[in-house]
Amino acid sequence: MAIDQKTLDELKSMLLKEKEDLEKNLGRIAKPINKEEGDYETSFEELGDDKDDNATEVDQYSQNLSVENSLEKQLQNVLDALEKIDKGTYGKCENCDKDIPLERLQVNPSARVCLDC
Ligand SMILES: [Zn+2]
Repeated sequence: MAIDQKTLDELKSMLLKEKEDLEKNLGRIAKPINKEEGDYETSFEELGDDKDDNATEVDQYSQNLSVENSLEKQLQNVLDALEKIDKGTYGKCENCDKDIPLERLQVNPSARVCLDC
């Protein structure tokens, strides 16, 4: 791998920071099912029993659900990247197996594929 240890450490701390932020944001709208794997379930908030309350609950829930899905996807990318760092396979394109350029990783440390793919 072309990435030196110091750079790798920097990328890793960026990923850990990102993981923390994502978990914090997810925690507001979802419950962790499996934190290790970044698996969350959107919480359904009970506001009340009348018709308006129920409509608001459903609106809120579907909004949270789409936010939750996108945060969860990001979190899983971050967790995968961290796992790859541990395994020593970090920085390779998942599609063509070429090295992902460092400049790209520094902007987006959880990138899975190179720019061409
Ligand atoms: Zn590629």
